[in-house]
Amino acid sequence: MLLIAIGVTPETALAEASGLEVDNGVVVDEYLRTTDPSIFAAGDASCIRRAGMERPLRLECWKNAEDQGDIVAKNMLGIKTAYQTVPWMWSDQFDKVVQAAGLPSPDQTIALRPLGMGALVAFHYDAPGMLAAVSGYGPIGLVAKAVRIGSVMLQRGISPTPEAVRAASDLRELIQARQEHARSSDFSIAVGYGASQRPTS
Ligand SMILES: Cc1cc2nc3c(=O)[nH]c(=O)nc-3n(C[C@H](O)[C@H](O)[C@H](O)COP(=O)(O)OP(=O)(O)OC[C@H]3O[C@@H](n4cnc5c(N)ncnc54)[C@H](O)[C@@H]3O)c2cc1C
Repeated sequence: MLLIAIGVTPETALAEASGLEVDNGVVVDEYLRTTDPSIFAAGDASCIRRAGMERPLRLECWKNAEDQGDIVAKNMLGIKTAYQTVPWMWSDQFDKVVQAAGLPSPDQTIALRPLGMGALVAFHYDAPGMLAAVSGYGPIGLVAKAVRIGSVMLQRGISPTPEAVRAASDLRELIQARQEHARSSDFSIAVGYGASQRPTS
């Protein structure tokens, strides 16, 4: 398979003309407020920046646009809601699918687990050895189930060891054994965007 990712450029002309801060997208805080607190931004064009983050976060996928739209609507209605969603994306490639939960990155180490029928799931670990993302490739049913379980782990702050990922007879066991490497359930902190706030356990 040859994969070419050319990226996209956010359309920020209107935001710039309105005097909003723009830096690789329309800059928003964790409530998706722009630098004018009466204006919100969601989806591909929004770039979250907040104290404690190691780097700004701008995502280009359908589910993120939906999740952030939901959060913006709540905040506009006065239901104060911070962005703490575990990112999730998919791409269908003929009869196969690529899915990822969390934020995979080339500097992470990976534990691979075959799922059968040519499907694979990868658990991605950051430098301190904490689970940062789960991705998969193969027939949709097998991959979707494994990545969904990984997403629940990330949301709940469960970080199974690579050995446990390879050895488990069923990945759901690893959610039940959640005492293992438990950590903050605030995903935006747990994935390393607030390393200074990361719990030491
Ligand atoms: C070829 C392609 C394939 C993709 N495949 C996948 C995939 O497999 N999985 C996945 O998760 N995501 C995929 N995506 C990404 C996904 O489509 C986007 O993440 C999603 O559409 C973002 O939604 P959005 O509402 O933020 O932005 P958009 O869908 O881009 O909507 C923004 C809208 O604002 C309009 N607009 C911009 N400026 C102005 C203005 N000044 N005034 C009025 N209107 C304006 C634009 O015309 C556009 O209609 C794909 C994208 C592309 C291009």
